[in-house]
Amino acid sequence: MSKVLVIGAGGVGSVAVHKMAMNPEIFSDIHLASRTVSKCDAIAASVKERTGVSISTYAIDADDVEATSALIRSIGPKLVVNLALPYQDLAIMDACLATGVNYLDTANYEPRDVAKFEYSWQWAYQERFKEAGLMALLGSGFDPGVTSVFAMWLKKHKLKTIRKLDILDCNGGDHGQHFATNFNPEINIREVTAPARHWENGAFVETPAMSTKVSFDFEGVGPKNMYMMYHEELESLARFLPELERGRFWMTFGDAYIQHLTVLQNVGMTRIDPVMYNGVEIIPLQFLKAVLPEPASLGATTKGKTNIGDIATGEALDGSGEKTFYIKNICDHEEAFAETGNQAVSYTTGVPAMIGAAMVLTGKWSGPNGEGGVFNMEQMDPDPFMDMLNTQGLPWTVEELSEPLPF
Ligand code: NDP
Repeated sequence: MSKVLVIGAGGVGSVAVHKMAMNPEIFSDIHLASRTVSKCDAIAASVKERTGVSISTYAIDADDVEATSALIRSIGPKLVVNLALPYQDLAIMDACLATGVNYLDTANYEPRDVAKFEYSWQWAYQERFKEAGLMALLGSGFDPGVTSVFAMWLKKHKLKTIRKLDILDCNGGDHGQHFATNFNPEINIREVTAPARHWENGAFVETPAMSTKVSFDFEGVGPKNMYMMYHEELESLARFLPELERGRFWMTFGDAYIQHLTVLQNVGMTRIDPVMYNGVEIIPLQFLKAVLPEPASLGATTKGKTNIGDIATGEALDGSGEKTFYIKNICDHEEAFAETGNQAVSYTTGVPAMIGAAMVLTGKWSGPNGEGGVFNMEQMDPDPFMDMLNTQGLPWTVEELSEPLPF
């Protein structure tokens, strides 16, 4: 029985709060705050209608540490679940330290003015959280999040070492729009236009954005082009799987998406530095976000499935030599929408955020000997999290493959 404060009322926040309300034995008292309180109220109304549970809502600017600390003090939660944007991570961590409350997020901190994806800023909070006896759980979405838990489950149950790891993220959903992103457009476009990086023999190797493309036949979706990209869990996986020789991340994009993105990049619309327009400073990418469809609005029209998983190769635990396993979840956009009013990209992030929160609140996950600190998903026992994936809408399968990816 625990009180939780969720910050951020986008698609991910909406799914997380709906799923929390469906687990009242863990989340007995749910509070939702975001910049625009009307979005919190709309989520609260949907939660009430679907589950009968009442949640309290608040307006907050989470960049303001004082205001967030005051809100946390007035509510008195055991955990703050940060589902706002990566820009708010450090401010919300500061507010949690100021008020003595545990912290969880789904994306690493990013400074607004440079598209840099790394854990260094948040790992730097380790001593402060440890001294305070508080837990900060980083990256409890699908990727990052479940993809790291998948790898650690394979390492616990199937493989003694993981030499090669490929993370494959396929969204086979069709929303019927010419161009739209499935989560926050600003964050999404910053991510996909950044140079690709993969882990190879102890270092990251950088290649131009979207320059490595291969086709892969995804179960439930069919053949799709996937592109090698950098994704933040490669940093934590390389740290917590010291034996890793090669780690790569792949994401699928349709030709129309690539064409639109190329044009937008060529004309400067994806820039994140300020430009003057009619005497006002604007950031082109933020303006672009304002004219693109809201990801939350795509739910009603999106059909198809997502398929996200890990292919890992290493020495088998049972001594039978080198083995390769493929572990994945397939999620249906329309089923996700019917359950929570949000499409599968929000669903596959919001459900693991709820499960991570459940792990912290029930004490199934904690630091060694109950100590506080800043933790990544790889540092926790994968089993209770994997059990909840199966019961909370994201069932997974594991199969043995005859060989690693042939490229
Ligand atoms: P949205 O843009 O739909 O929602 C973000 C919410 O945060 C909005 O309600 C927004 O308010 C609110 N917000 C923004 N700034 C502030 C602020 N300063 N103070 C308070 N609230 C604020 O994003 P998503 O729901 O799609 O994504 C949420 C998070 O999940 C992001 O960090 C994203 O990177 C992460 N994510 C992680 C994934 C994973 O698998 N690990 C996958 C997908 C997303 P307003 O409505 O007023 O703008």
